[in-house]
Amino acid sequence: MKRLILPAFFCSLAVVFLFTSAARQIKSPIAPDFHFEGPSIVIHGGAGTITRANMRPEMEALVRASLTRVLDSGYAALARGEDRMDVVVRVLSMLEDDSLFNAGIGAVVNAEGVAELDASVMDGMTRKAGAVAGLQHVAHPAALARAVMDHTSHVFLIGEGAEQFAWEEGMDPVQNAYFLTKRRGKQYQNWIEQHKKGTVGVVVKDAQGHLAAGTSTGGMMGKQWGRVGDVPVLGAGTYADDRGAAISCTGHGEYFIREAVAYQVNARMQFGHESLAQAAHTVLFDVLNAQQGQGGLIGIDAQGHAIMTFNSEGMYRGAKGVLTGTQGPALRFVGIYADQ
Ligand code: ASP
Repeated sequence: MKRLILPAFFCSLAVVFLFTSAARQIKSPIAPDFHFEGPSIVIHGGAGTITRANMRPEMEALVRASLTRVLDSGYAALARGEDRMDVVVRVLSMLEDDSLFNAGIGAVVNAEGVAELDASVMDGMTRKAGAVAGLQHVAHPAALARAVMDHTSHVFLIGEGAEQFAWEEGMDPVQNAYFLTKRRGKQYQNWIEQHKKGTVGVVVKDAQGHLAAGTSTGGMMGKQWGRVGDVPVLGAGTYADDRGAAISCTGHGEYFIREAVAYQVNARMQFGHESLAQAAHTVLFDVLNAQQGQGGLIGIDAQGHAIMTFNSEGMYRGAKGVLTGTQGPALRFVGIYADQ
């Protein structure tokens, strides 16, 4: 397999540029973005230095169309009564297949030019979970995370062991080049234009009020070989608990691991009696900002309060559900920048 060697300074520059520009200080009001009743879904496609000034209109249109398509498909499945974990995997698989996002096809590469993928899923009712990391040949990492949850007595499989399990599950291996798009190829030469890609995530509430969450990523551009980010670390990048919230994060993973962000939001809700919106704001704007840890998270609680909060410039995001107190139809929101 041909490996692309990136100059070390190039990689570190990319990582620095992605997440260390001054963290956004503006706090939005501490209220949920939406209050949904019935089945509802929130997705993200990554956070980072995403501004109108550096976004090409064609790219913006593609991203908005893609988020819309995925939201509609996920919401329709939930509304049909499809199993919440099936919906989580379906939505993440769609985003993994979309080269616009840093998961599956279109994933960023490590310092050796190899895509290494991480994912996790979690069920809020049972608190069962599955996670995988360091995959180089699995097209749908979130589906494999789900298989770890359902078909093993373990929670977290990595590298070759995880891939061996994938083949036993009947998945077909793909070449690592399968993940590398032309756009990513250009990114090596002109990465500065291409810094907007992101991890993908989903949180859902089903018709019975049970929650689920999942996240999938290629990690961070130019990461060290073997580096694992927050995404497959349950409690850091992903967590779901019906007694708190379903959370999926995106951002500079090292900070999200250190602060156990997804679980910290849950703990603040369950033990500190904060609302989902309060807990998310505190973690992003106080805890992470204090460390210059950039990123965002989406969340939903069992009452249908939904949030999409970020301390970076932008976050690809969307939500769909019937607003409480209305008779429907379902409202669909898609946003990219702080002012949508
Ligand atoms: N959180 C991911 C990681 O650190 C990257 C991202 O969300 O863009 O691996």
